[in-house]
Amino acid sequence: QPALSGDFSAIMEWADAARRMKVRANAETPVDARTARSFGAEGIGLCRTEHMFFDDERILAMREMILSDTEEERRAALAKLLPMQRADFVELFEIMAGLPVTIRLLDPPLHEFLPKTEEEIGEVAAAMGVDAERLRQRTEALHEFNPMLGHRGCRLAVCYPEIAEMQARAVFEAAIEAAASTGEPVVPEIMVPLVGMASELSFVKGLIEGVAKTVLDEAGVKIDYLVGTMIELPRAALNAGEIAREAEFFSFGTNDLTQTTFGISRDDAASFLEVYRKKGIIEQDPFVSIDVEGVGALVRLAAEKGRARRGAMKLGICGEHGGDPASISFCEDVGLDYISCSPFRVPIARLAAAQAACRR
Ligand code: PEP
Ligand code: MG
Repeated sequence: QPALSGDFSAIMEWADAARRMKVRANAETPVDARTARSFGAEGIGLCRTEHMFFDDERILAMREMILSDTEEERRAALAKLLPMQRADFVELFEIMAGLPVTIRLLDPPLHEFLPKTEEEIGEVAAAMGVDAERLRQRTEALHEFNPMLGHRGCRLAVCYPEIAEMQARAVFEAAIEAAASTGEPVVPEIMVPLVGMASELSFVKGLIEGVAKTVLDEAGVKIDYLVGTMIELPRAALNAGEIAREAEFFSFGTNDLTQTTFGISRDDAASFLEVYRKKGIIEQDPFVSIDVEGVGALVRLAAEKGRARRGAMKLGICGEHGGDPASISFCEDVGLDYISCSPFRVPIARLAAAQAACRR
């Protein structure tokens, strides 16, 4: 494991004594979670569960699930994924040993899970025992022209509730197991992505609460948990007061919030933003540093509306900006409780959070 040593470690401790905001990491693999801890992360602020389904065994079951015709078939495919997902979460909870862990429900652009080649279609067809031609048609029917604005985030949980239910079951079962093995209470934070309306969150939260009740009753135990949401669409920021009725925490997804506020694709921006910068039209890349007048104004507004509705609700950021010192300074001004960034940026985030606190 990488670690901070000697004098550097001492400087980081001074910084920790000065800062107000907590520093978490974005991590979903055991390696990343251990790296994050060795760099001083105080929790996981974003576990992107979609990244957990891309290895060979899992993607096949995931494809079977998405390409199934009936809920019953989907549930059968999900049953194969449940033990793997549960083991993923047990390991993360054990590594984090009682520190907060925010698990985000599946947030893929759906096309990332669809078979792309004839060979892949044949493989899934064989696993499902169906005709390859039928599967090809089903794959085509799920094609989207604008996947980043399409079937992703909480929309997936609304259309296929059984996916969210499988993931929630895995979270609660894992929390029970990890609490027993570590002796530390595990309080999972379940995060719903790409919410734009309170009614979306209320629907998904209902699914999560239903599963929590079933699993906890089955096990005869009680655990605390939080259900919250990402604020990553302008509509969510504008309606944060309503959304806060349902959400126990907000985490600002500034990657998507920048994309949707600017109307600029986060995957294609580099080519022309560089020209914009050279010609003096913008000073800095908004995907690197929070654009204070636009995205930042939405973050500030949502934080104010959320807190006005729910009092001291927990507020964090998990977009890439959470590892950028200038953005961290902005987060301090807004009064966020924590920043979450990639594991290797945790040390710089600890220093930047301390610097921002000292400046106030
Ligand atoms: C975000 O949109 O800022 C975010 C953290 O989610 P993702 O990058 O996974 O879309
Ligand atoms: Mg996002």
